Amino acid sequence: LRLSQDQKTIFYHPAMGEAYERQRMLEKGLETALERDELHLYFQPQVSLSTGLIVGAEALLRWQHPGLGNVSPDEFIPVAEATGIIIPIGDWVLRQACEFWGELKQQGIIDQAVVAVNLSAGQFRHTGLVNMIRDIVSVTGMPYDQLELEITESHLMHDLDASVEIMKRLQQLGVALAIDDFGTGYSSLSTLNGFPLDKLKIDRSFVVGIPGNRSNETLVEAIIQMAHALNLKIITEGVETKVQVEWLKKHGSNEIQGYYFSKPLPRDEFVAFIQQGQTL
Ligand code: C2E
Ligand code: CA
Ligand code: CA
Ligand code: CA
Repeated sequence: LRLSQDQKTIFYHPAMGEAYERQRMLEKGLETALERDELHLYFQPQVSLSTGLIVGAEALLRWQHPGLGNVSPDEFIPVAEATGIIIPIGDWVLRQACEFWGELKQQGIIDQAVVAVNLSAGQFRHTGLVNMIRDIVSVTGMPYDQLELEITESHLMHDLDASVEIMKRLQQLGVALAIDDFGTGYSSLSTLNGFPLDKLKIDRSFVVGIPGNRSNETLVEAIIQMAHALNLKIITEGVETKVQVEWLKKHGSNEIQGYYFSKPLPRDEFVAFIQQGQTL
């Protein structure tokens, strides 16, 4: 949609014009964000509730825009998805995360821990994902079984047969598959039964008010029980307090991720955190 200055003043309320301008800035900025070195990965530790040890980390994208400052991924990822630029950016994220993990492994800083990478729906359906992962692994020396991909329910609902096919191929390689933000979409646990999955990630919106919020408690209890019945490992995100940790441990969540243990950290701080031997 392109309008002249005059048309704009006629059809747009000033506030709408501002939102439109910002949108355009984000779209334009994303085109050059990679080459201008404005994107960075942070890593948020994931910790086992049975051992208290770090068992993985989620890679989370950060964008420092020259004019707008830090832009939240909740704002720019949807824009990147809409323009299609998420494909090269997503490739970059996967490569960076695996490269970093390969280095940590080589240096003996991590052993068996996994790195979890978020995949956008477009990336997931992009033919060549499996080959790209093969290529990345061969270059970075990162073992397949230390890579986990986080996908959301909407990925699965789009094209069932094609999704299952890609997922099976990834699993055959040894890559683990986690369903992210579980409970926020429309799928039920019985739908999940048909998919080759390893892990279920309970969305942080359900953790709010636990313990105490009876409806959230009941929901999380039900999700955990059924996920276990489907042989899925459970990680709960957005865990911020000690009482939440205790409640989740008691109710069978295998792992947690959240501010209580650590915020997402830039590489050097993440390495320092691991080297200090932090445990829950
Ligand atoms: P997500 O995948 O659900 O990631 C978890 C979000 O919760 C992260 O927000 C993380 O910083 C935040 N978080 C973690 N622990 C806590 C906690 O204890 N309390 C609270 N209040 N928040 C917590 P972030 O980093 O802003 O990312 C937002 C979303 O952007 C992600 O949600 C994910 O959907 C998307 N995203 C981030 N990086 C990537 C990426 O590389 N690729 C794709 N496709 N999406 C990404
Ligand atoms: Ca995620
Ligand atoms: Ca999530
Ligand atoms: Ca989320």
